[in-house]
Amino acid sequence: TQFSDFGLARPIMQALADEKHTTPTPIQAEAIPAILRDRDLLGIAQTGSGKTAAFALPILHRLVDTPHQRRPGDCRALILTPTRELSAQVLDRFRAYGRRLNLRMGLVIGGAPMGKQKAMARKGVDVLVATPGRLVDLIEQKAIDLSRVETLVLDEVDQMLDLGFIHAIRSITQKLPTERQSIFFSATMPREIAKLAGSLLQNPARVEI
Ligand code: AMP
Repeated sequence: TQFSDFGLARPIMQALADEKHTTPTPIQAEAIPAILRDRDLLGIAQTGSGKTAAFALPILHRLVDTPHQRRPGDCRALILTPTRELSAQVLDRFRAYGRRLNLRMGLVIGGAPMGKQKAMARKGVDVLVATPGRLVDLIEQKAIDLSRVETLVLDEVDQMLDLGFIHAIRSITQKLPTERQSIFFSATMPREIAKLAGSLLQNPARVEI
């Protein structure tokens, strides 16, 4: 499999060349076509597998392929991760692969001033990467509207559950439209995660590396 097999937009292909990503990793080879076909996805993959690009590339492609009139408070792709550090890393990858696209991206994490995050969210973003606790705070303060989210990613779900984020995840997913794409990545798949996946994913493609 080559990156050119996926039909990704040219500016994304150019960014891959800038990043010196020459060949898709196994998880990318399986996940990217499924996500581009609008399938939900259940991925079992570790850090280092290239899982971030596996969801970032098709999400960026969809965002530029289907133009959209941005409204205040909007968010088209929502990525939840367990920690501030991982959220920052995931956003860094989206910015790298999306550097030639005219998209707005933002970070919502604890430990940083809330005012700036609220102002950013209120303007509307294409991609929002967030930790669950702070996102719940912003929702409660009505700084963000999740009713038009097109794609939800839960990254490192096992870690999020270990950190006690299940209630925050439930409260966030309740605000999302039922018609959306959902993507799960976890390093392990204990029963609790399989249960959550069963309730949030619809007929997911499964990829396991
Ligand atoms: P991840 O598993 O998403 O944390 O990615 C691990 C590292 O692999 C990151 O530094 C990526 O920039 C890099 N990477 C992702 N996909 C590729 C690829 N197809 N070729 C080379 N490096 C990659």
